[in-house]
Amino acid sequence: MMRITIFNEFVHEKKDDAVKEIYPNGIHTALKEHLEDGEITVNTVTLDSVNDITCELLAETDVMLWWGHLQHGDVPDEVAKRVQNAVLSGMGMIFLHSAHHSKPFKLLMGTPCSLSWREDGDREYVWVCDPSHPIAQGIDRYIKLEHEETYSEPFSIPEPDKLIFIGNYEGGEVFRAGCCYRRGYGKIFYFQPGHESYPTYHNPQIIKVIKNAVHWAYSNYRKEIDCPHIQKIEG
Ligand code: ZN
Repeated sequence: MMRITIFNEFVHEKKDDAVKEIYPNGIHTALKEHLEDGEITVNTVTLDSVNDITCELLAETDVMLWWGHLQHGDVPDEVAKRVQNAVLSGMGMIFLHSAHHSKPFKLLMGTPCSLSWREDGDREYVWVCDPSHPIAQGIDRYIKLEHEETYSEPFSIPEPDKLIFIGNYEGGEVFRAGCCYRRGYGKIFYFQPGHESYPTYHNPQIIKVIKNAVHWAYSNYRKEIDCPHIQKIEG
């Protein structure tokens, strides 16, 4: 079994009725329900229980998902650092939508991770750049989303190791919507769709991409990166 931990801030869903209607039990619960199967088991953490993200929990997590927006600053620095270290040691990590400004993403990227945005409910086409990549399997040329928040370049991230998706919106904007990285021993995927006001995480194709990404990011190798003093090999 793959052990997944989903962190969701869980703030919009409690205070905004329109969001509550789409995700009555929170984005984390919707993702858990859509992702769990015979191979994946999901544990969830919200901002109220953010200190549950301990080294022990992370050691028992194969892949972590992160959704946050309004209160990135309320995630303690030591929690963000723990997540960063777990990724460097081999934990897989998927950052969703507005997690581009989360503390762990910025720590792992080392850049501001800022972008341009507007919220007009535009139609988005999420175009597949590399149909051969494991994360794009089962997806045709594009995913059409009736409504999404518009994110636009420039997106101040490091050059991705591999770009899997580009988003295109009615206003003509484009955005690097699916980006792969490796940091230390860990694999990272950033995936743009998932604004809280739209039912994006109920879209089977979006769930397919996230599930593919979970499998792609999984590794059974886990080791803290050290700096040992070594002896010359004899003979
Ligand atoms: Zn958003």
